[in-house]
Amino acid sequence: MPLWFVRGLRRGVVTTRYPARPDPSAAFLPTPPAFHPSRLDQRLADRLCEVCPSRALRREGDVLIFDVGACTACGRCREAAPEAVTVSGEFELAATDRASLVKRIPLLGETGP
Ligand code: SF4
Repeated sequence: MPLWFVRGLRRGVVTTRYPARPDPSAAFLPTPPAFHPSRLDQRLADRLCEVCPSRALRREGDVLIFDVGACTACGRCREAAPEAVTVSGEFELAATDRASLVKRIPLLGETGP
């Protein structure tokens, strides 16, 4: 029987101290992406939309729409464009308003012909 289990039974504490204190294991959680608008044009945004399996990304003109609520943090967009996409490190994504999870990311101007 694992020691941590026996220790927890003796002390009556069976959970971590989160959210009062950060949990060290949070560093290993997959998190949604963060986008660098200065490195995103329409062509690259379209490529990101194509690789996103959960349709969390879509483009409307010069804006990339990112639905954080639909993102599974799979990392495919970051793999497709590491120069423009990084991990956010943010996993506390609960919201009372669904609309607050939808981000509008401005894109660089028109691409060539
Ligand atoms: S991490 Fe995955 S689900 Fe989230 S936006 Fe990127 S490709 Fe889509």
